Amino acid sequence: MTNSNRRYNITTFGCQMNKADSERMAGILETMGYDFTEDPNEASIIVYNTCSIRDNAEQKVYSYLGKQAKRKHKEGDLTLVVAGCVAQQEGEQLLRRVPEIDLIMGPQHANRLDSLLDQVFAGNQIVATEPVHIFEDITKPRRESSVSAWVNIIYGCNERCSYCVVPNTRGVEQSRTPEAIKAEIEELARQGYKEITLLGQNIDAYGRDLPGTTETGRHKHTLTDLLYFIHDVEGIERIRFATSHPRYFTERLIKACHELPKVCEHFHIPFQSGDNEVLKAMKRGYTHERYRDIINKIRGYMPHAAISADAIVGFPGETEEQFENTLRLVEDIGFDQLNTAAYSPRPQTPAAEWENQLSEEVKGDRLARLNHLVSVKAAERSQRYLGKIEQVLVEDVNPKDATQVVGRTDGNRLTFFAGDINQLKGKIVPVKITQVRAFSLTGEALTLVEA
Ligand code: SF4
Repeated sequence: MTNSNRRYNITTFGCQMNKADSERMAGILETMGYDFTEDPNEASIIVYNTCSIRDNAEQKVYSYLGKQAKRKHKEGDLTLVVAGCVAQQEGEQLLRRVPEIDLIMGPQHANRLDSLLDQVFAGNQIVATEPVHIFEDITKPRRESSVSAWVNIIYGCNERCSYCVVPNTRGVEQSRTPEAIKAEIEELARQGYKEITLLGQNIDAYGRDLPGTTETGRHKHTLTDLLYFIHDVEGIERIRFATSHPRYFTERLIKACHELPKVCEHFHIPFQSGDNEVLKAMKRGYTHERYRDIINKIRGYMPHAAISADAIVGFPGETEEQFENTLRLVEDIGFDQLNTAAYSPRPQTPAAEWENQLSEEVKGDRLARLNHLVSVKAAERSQRYLGKIEQVLVEDVNPKDATQVVGRTDGNRLTFFAGDINQLKGKIVPVKITQVRAFSLTGEALTLVEA
C-alpha cells in the first residue's frame, strides 16, 4: 500500500555527510513520484535524518516523532522513517520507544530507500542497520543549491576517537573509485553546478582501501591524486573538500591546493583540543605542535588561506590549564571560523564511560569563553578583506534583503552585495569589500566576469 498523498518532508540534523545523504534520499523520493513539502504536517512520508553527536538533536527527534506518531493515529496515511546515526545506534530500541515508526535505517542504507520503502508498503516494519557494502551510487541526489554540490568520496571512518559515534554508525572506510567520482562531477557540471565539495568523515583517508601502489610504495589513490584527476572537469569553477584530519594531512596535499587554481584556499581541519594530554585521551593521534606546523606550512604556501576548524571543550578530565591551552591555540592561529561544542557523552563511546566527567556549569563557562575569543579573532581576520577585491560565487538572493545577492569568497566567507539574482546566480563576480563583520562581508560588484 503506497501513500495517497504523495508528498514528503525530510528534517536533517548534524553534519554535512547527513545533509548529503538527505539530498540523496530526496532524489530517490522524487524519482518515486513524491514532491517535497516544507510542512511536515502535509507530508505522507516523513524522514528524520538524525545525528547522535549532540544530545539535544537526539531529544528533538523524539519530540518531533511523538507529534507525528499522534498524527499517524488520527490520519493513518503516514510513513515515518528514521535514518542516520541515531537510527543506526538505537536500532530496534527506537521501535520500543516509538512503535509507530515504519522504517529505521542506518546511514549506509541511504541509497536503498526505495527498496526499503517497497517493503514498508508491503506491510512490513523494517530495521536496516546491518553493515553493507556501499555500491556505486546510481541515485540522482536532489541538490539543495543549484550552484554548489556535495560529492561523497569516502564513506565511514577507521579512526577511533574516544568521543565519537561515527565509526559505530557509519562503518569502515569505503572509498569510491576516482572514475566514479569524476563521472558524478562531470554530470554535475552538465547540470550547471559551479562548485563541488568533496566529502568524507576523514577525507585524508581517501584511497587507503583502494588497490594499487606507486613505484615509491605509496598508495596510488590519495586525496591529492584525486584532486589532480578531477581538477579539469569543464564547467566546475571551484573545488573544496572536508573534513581533514591533522594526523594524515600532507605537505603534498598543501602543494596541490596551491598549484591547482580551482581548489579553494580554504582548509577545514578540526584540532578539537590545544592540549596534548587531552588529545591523547581523545585518541586523535597528533600533538598541538603538529597541528601548528600544518597551519604554518599552509600559510607558507598560501599566506591568505582561510582556516576553519572544530573544537570540543570540557572533555572528561580537562583541567582549567588544559582548556587554556585550547584558548592559546585559538589566539595564536586566528581562525576564520571555528565550530565549537561542549563535550556531550554519546552512548557506546569510550569517553562516555569515564568517571571524570565535568559539570555542565564548567563546560558552559568554557564554551562561552572560547566562543567569545573565536568571534574576536574572526573579526580580526575579516579586517584583511576590507577594501580588497574578492571573487564571489553567487548562490542566492539575500533572504533578508531581496535587492541583494549572497555568495561566498574563495575563502568561504559569506558575502552580500546589491544585484539581481536572475542575472548573477552561478556567476563569479569581483566584489570590492566595503564592510566586514566577524563571519560575513558586504561589498559592491565591479565588472561582471562571465562564468
Ligand atoms: S576521525 Fe574521529 S571524530 Fe572524525 S569521524 Fe572518525 S572517529 Fe569520528
